[in-house]
Amino acid sequence: MVNIVWGEKLIEYDFGEGHPLRSIRCKKGVDEILKSDTDYNLINPRYATEEELLLFHTKDYIKSIKNNIGGSSETPIKDMYNPARLSVGATLTVVESIDENNRISVNLCGGWHHAFENQARGFCIFNDVVIGAKYSQKKGYKKVMIIDWDVHHGDGTQRAFLNDDSVYTISIHQDPSTQYPYLTGYTRENTKTNLNIPISPDETEQEIMTKVLSTIPNEIRFFKPDILIIQMGVDGYKYDPMSSIDLSERFYESISVVLSRCAKKNRFPVVLLGGGGFYFPKTAELWKLIVETFEKNIKE
Ligand SMILES: [Zn+2]
Repeated sequence: MVNIVWGEKLIEYDFGEGHPLRSIRCKKGVDEILKSDTDYNLINPRYATEEELLLFHTKDYIKSIKNNIGGSSETPIKDMYNPARLSVGATLTVVESIDENNRISVNLCGGWHHAFENQARGFCIFNDVVIGAKYSQKKGYKKVMIIDWDVHHGDGTQRAFLNDDSVYTISIHQDPSTQYPYLTGYTRENTKTNLNIPISPDETEQEIMTKVLSTIPNEIRFFKPDILIIQMGVDGYKYDPMSSIDLSERFYESISVVLSRCAKKNRFPVVLLGGGGFYFPKTAELWKLIVETFEKNIKE
């Protein structure tokens, strides 16, 4: 059974007409999953507390978001304290909802991997990927693996755990010399527990799949995570306006098959967080495909 979180208030994580980040994509994604054959538990989100936000963010930064100070036209923060806090709480809710029979948890209004401890960046205000990982550790999952296949490098997440061997961060993204965030996401940043797999716009989907799918199971075998958190951004899709790489359904389905088999074999739960995806309504369909694939393969 899949735990999926949704509440109408999550629709408020939205930057308005003309901005690429519209929360309707999350609502449509949830609708698609509920309409599908997936067995699900629909759960309500709760707000993350300030103490939980402090697991990653600084006190001054949290205060500035509360007081509507800062942000940019790319990442507006006005009146976003509560919506952003709710989207983090939604990630914590799905972590809490994992149990023996319900080992896949989904928050489509999450995956805010660009937020730094003291800065809103790239449509991301509070970094629920980082807070979700730290919260999972409080819940007893000692070793956390984060796999981020959004087309943009998961820079806020990498930064949070660079000196922490208990969290292994893997990011698969478009070569940052040709894509936001430009400054990070290169292989020179790789360490024992940080792996960047940049993809050049020249690579074919087959080449990308060969590279990614042959690497990740080995990393899982080596690290032995107690929980896997996935930032399942689908903005690498071939028609997505943000992307110069050409991924299709085949990539998202294949990586989901490989990872769900690893999860089943090694008996670790999986948390799926939405992330990017700006080609509507395909974003919702791709998220459904990923969630269905995980459910089917873990159940079998
Ligand atoms: Zn993205």
